[in-house]
Amino acid sequence: MTTRFTGGCMCGTVRYECTADPIAMGNCHCRDCQRATGSAFAAAVLVPTSTVNITGEVKYYEVIGDSGAIVRRGFCPNCGARLFGKPAASPDIMGIMAGSLDDPGWFRPQADIYTASAPPWDYMNPDLPKFPGLPQK
Ligand SMILES: [Zn+2]
Ligand SMILES: [Zn+2]
Repeated sequence: MTTRFTGGCMCGTVRYECTADPIAMGNCHCRDCQRATGSAFAAAVLVPTSTVNITGEVKYYEVIGDSGAIVRRGFCPNCGARLFGKPAASPDIMGIMAGSLDDPGWFRPQADIYTASAPPWDYMNPDLPKFPGLPQK
């Protein structure tokens, strides 16, 4: 299988490569992502977990997300860079933080989610669909 994209943390301890194209891309504005990123929202790429190969030690911190479900947030224990989000209820999919991509230029968010939690200074692209919480499938 060919590598579709690669990325890693700031210090280079953690590297990853993915052999699939993203299932979805989006910006999450929930309070949990705000605290985790220290910013207005988390820009993330959703991929099948089985297609991601990670090298280097990743530390995971478990939180109860705004959805009420457990999310494991992965980061580099050395430099602290945020890398992954793993919903405990859906082990087949995982999120990769768009800023950790080697080439973040191709990231195309398709929606803004949890917009109800966004602070007033959080400017969003008006052309993207908005969901106050989690999009209902
Ligand atoms: Zn690092
Ligand atoms: Zn979130």
